[in-house]
Amino acid sequence: MARRRRKKSLKPKKPRHPSRYFQCPRCGSVTLTIDFAKIGGNEDEKMAIAKCGNCHLYCELKVPRVLDRVDVYNKIVDLSYDNKLSECEKTESETEAETEEEVDDEGEI
Ligand SMILES: [Zn+2]
Repeated sequence: MARRRRKKSLKPKKPRHPSRYFQCPRCGSVTLTIDFAKIGGNEDEKMAIAKCGNCHLYCELKVPRVLDRVDVYNKIVDLSYDNKLSECEKTESETEAETEEEVDDEGEI
């Protein structure tokens, strides 16, 4: 008998392609992104920022540093189920960009 070749089980490795986008718990579109930001002077926690490109949901969540995007996403979904999404929601105030229209009041008669 010749050499027995051991059958290599070629399991197709699932390429771990964690999608950058999550399904938004509010509008249902897969346009939710989660980013992390450092919190200055805080080594244990970080800020998770979830944004939806569709309905413009904007959510900030202070989470332990070890959490992953998926963990944060689960948290957000939980919040949404409990109708607590508004607790972490921030409305981006863009009042600074307001264009001030000068009212011409010169027309004194
Ligand atoms: Zn959305």
